[in-house]
Amino acid sequence: TVPGVSSNLKQVKLDRESELRIEVSDEPLRLRVVNGTAEIFGSELPPEIWRTFPPRLKFAVFTWYGATIEMDGVTETDYTADETPMVSYVNVHAILDARRRFAKASTSTDSESPQGPRVIVVGPTDSGKSTLTKMLISWAAKQGWKPTFVDLDVGQGSITIPGSIAATPIEMPLDTVEGFPLDMALVYYYGHTTPANNVELYKTMVKELAQVLERQFLGNPESRAAGMVINTMGWIDGIGYELLLHAIETFNASVVLVLGQEKLFSMLKDVLKSKSNVDVVKLHKSGGVVARNRDYRKTARNSRIQEYFYGLSKELSPYANTSSFSDVQVFRIGGGPQAPRSALPIGSDPVSNPLRVTPVNIEERDLLHSILAVSYAEEPDQIVSSNVSGFVYVTEVDVLRKKITYLAPSPGALPSKILVAGSLTWLESH
Ligand code: ATP
Repeated sequence: TVPGVSSNLKQVKLDRESELRIEVSDEPLRLRVVNGTAEIFGSELPPEIWRTFPPRLKFAVFTWYGATIEMDGVTETDYTADETPMVSYVNVHAILDARRRFAKASTSTDSESPQGPRVIVVGPTDSGKSTLTKMLISWAAKQGWKPTFVDLDVGQGSITIPGSIAATPIEMPLDTVEGFPLDMALVYYYGHTTPANNVELYKTMVKELAQVLERQFLGNPESRAAGMVINTMGWIDGIGYELLLHAIETFNASVVLVLGQEKLFSMLKDVLKSKSNVDVVKLHKSGGVVARNRDYRKTARNSRIQEYFYGLSKELSPYANTSSFSDVQVFRIGGGPQAPRSALPIGSDPVSNPLRVTPVNIEERDLLHSILAVSYAEEPDQIVSSNVSGFVYVTEVDVLRKKITYLAPSPGALPSKILVAGSLTWLESH
């Protein structure tokens, strides 16, 4: 404790290749590097400068060569650990780096020429997938590459609000607090927080996203050489496993990193053994990864939505807009009321078309507190294959006056009248 400054000031000296693991309490925490160099999930902390970390964030400050860290505030927990899998992670990075250099050296417009690595990170929930993707992305960006980050996790996505799959080029190491930038992201709104709600739709959107990236890569040798890092969800059994295989295939992954599960590793190794151009690599889970229960995940999802509209530390104010029912068209994809089996011809299947787009009657369906995506589709039949420009949050539905009021992150008219509803709702709590 430094006398006279603050009783909560604390210095921690870290030896080389060790980390300080922190769970922020309900109050923000300030932290800085006073000596040496340190990074948070692959992104270096600038010397001396205080950064503020939001409540409940869990992270580690790692140092390769030793550092002294200063913290100001009360943490939920903080401890140092000298056993980490960081060396194995950075070795993976070195191999990817070599492949990027090889791809760059032989860049030609020929679609058969070598490409940068397409890395997919898989593993059970709480194995550190998102964290490893962040490191690989930041280390690559630090060396001047512009890798594409792809997030297929509709439950705990890192780019935008839950229920979406998205991709974004990364040009600099990630901000240690803000994470992934949203301004250049390509976003598809699936609308639910688990692929189980509509597996066909999820797969279709994954395919759409992959196709668009494939086209972008054709015209952009720099991105092509840098390759992709793909984050997946922790659902790895049954349909979840099939969806992983689907993603590996759809994105033409060349490196599959399996975190923390022997069984998944051997299953993938086995099914992919006929593909000589796919490497399946097993990696240890970090002891620092914090297991998060259902409630935590739900809270984290709500915070993501709040962050979208209000900013990370509530520094933004969203705009409230009101539209007449007739000025917007709301659609939903899949599901819909199914005809009872008795009403169908014998032998037919009552499952409705998972990709069918149906208009939502605003007067009849309760859209209050729904998150709606603003689609780039020009016609309803393009909704499934269109990405979205952003989201609005429905705060009021006035059936008498036929008006709908919503929050949007930017002012003015919506870029499109076509809105897409899923099952995602939010109860604003402040
Ligand atoms: P999910 O399947 O739910 O998406 P995941 O496998 O992607 O989970 P992460 O999100 O990477 O797991 O990690 C879980 C939590 O643990 C995160 O809050 C992350 O910041 C934290 N965490 C990861 N590694 C460390 C570490 N070394 N020290 C402290 N916290 C860590």
